[in-house]
Amino acid sequence: MGLIVQKFGGSSVADADKLRNVARIITETYKRGHNVVVVLSAQGDTTDDLIEKAKEINPHASRREMDMLLSTGEQISCALCAMAIEVLGCPVISLTGWQAGVQSNTGYGNARIKRIDTERILAELDKRSIVIVTGFQGINRYGDITTLGRGGSDTSAVALAAVLHADLCQIYTDVDGVFTADPRLVPEAHKLEEITFDEMLELATLGAQVLHNRSVEMAKRYNVDLEVLSSFSGRPGTKVKEVVKIMEKSHVSSIAKDKNVARLALVDLADEPGIAFRIFSLLSGKKINVDLILQSIGRGDKKDISFTVAKSDLEDAERVLEENRDYIGFDRIDVNDNIAKVSIVGAGMMNNPGVAASMFEALFNAGINIHMISTSEIKVSVLVDADEADRAVRVVHRKFFDEIAGQNSL
Ligand code: ADP
Ligand code: ASP
Ligand code: MG
Repeated sequence: MGLIVQKFGGSSVADADKLRNVARIITETYKRGHNVVVVLSAQGDTTDDLIEKAKEINPHASRREMDMLLSTGEQISCALCAMAIEVLGCPVISLTGWQAGVQSNTGYGNARIKRIDTERILAELDKRSIVIVTGFQGINRYGDITTLGRGGSDTSAVALAAVLHADLCQIYTDVDGVFTADPRLVPEAHKLEEITFDEMLELATLGAQVLHNRSVEMAKRYNVDLEVLSSFSGRPGTKVKEVVKIMEKSHVSSIAKDKNVARLALVDLADEPGIAFRIFSLLSGKKINVDLILQSIGRGDKKDISFTVAKSDLEDAERVLEENRDYIGFDRIDVNDNIAKVSIVGAGMMNNPGVAASMFEALFNAGINIHMISTSEIKVSVLVDADEADRAVRVVHRKFFDEIAGQNSL
């Protein structure tokens, strides 16, 4: 007998039939003799609908009240799921983040889990109850409800698996696992049997929403046995782990797209030391993350610096730069939020300079212009026009998983 944490996403609990299906998966696991802790997201588009409701009343609502509102979605799905399990005759209890002891920092809207007091959960498990916990939420030191950021239920599940020393953490979703690209965008994408924590972390950070990036970070830190699988198909999923055994034919594991990007360019800066420091320290002071950075070569005594931020940070970034126009010294700010980032990720690309060139070749052949490039040991990202992003993902996928994999096949 072991302890299994099972997390079900919004589409897996979207209506009564789906909740009954989830209740069946949970009780089957329970009846095999395991202790089961379940983490649920809100049903379907509930979180988006709640955000819209809030906007109708107050487009600038405080983050505290937003969290008070958004956390209700998870409470509904948990109570309904517990009721579905009651029908199947198994002992069950649903708990809010607070009741489950999930303590977070004070950062409303994007809180971090600080610790989990497991007494209540352990007491319920001792009684052989199935324990259902609301994902995406915690409680801070003021006793207020916080939420963990969009997609944060995955992180709730992995955190619980870590503190409870679970034997396995299963993330059930609406696709069969982690694919070589979003299967909704690239129908010929194939499911990966395994992927490393490092690759998955890059992928999640670069826009593949199948796992919340902080959940992967946490799974790596606490060595949680993690699996992504479908709540509908019953097929085996993808194992996310430290080291994978299979040598993939391609140096690339997967391709991601992120439309939540905006590019700012500061034009006609002085070409002298300290300018980049001023710009990026101002942004970091406002907790704005900067991603791709490009500095032009000097023209006479002038240069430009372009960089990308999340779309949600664009307004704040523009404001802080404008407020410091004299301190930084630039002629104008040029903004483009009609762009997207397309990335290839793969541990196999280390020491393989040809990988980036193959990506650029695929984009060139498709007539897609690259605005910015950034690379690390295990990824290459390019910035392209938003309306070309889907096509970019498809041509790059074809390059690596049809052409190159075909050439390398045994
Ligand atoms: P859940 O509601 O279960 O949390 P999400 O919508 O957050 O589900 O994540 C699952 C979705 O992630 C899939 O429906 C798929 O469209 C998308 N996705 C993006 N990239 C990938 C990928 N590489 N592999 C699998 N799914 C991906
Ligand atoms: N319900 C939350 C969201 O939609 C959390 C989650 O689904 O993981 O972002
Ligand atoms: Mg999700």
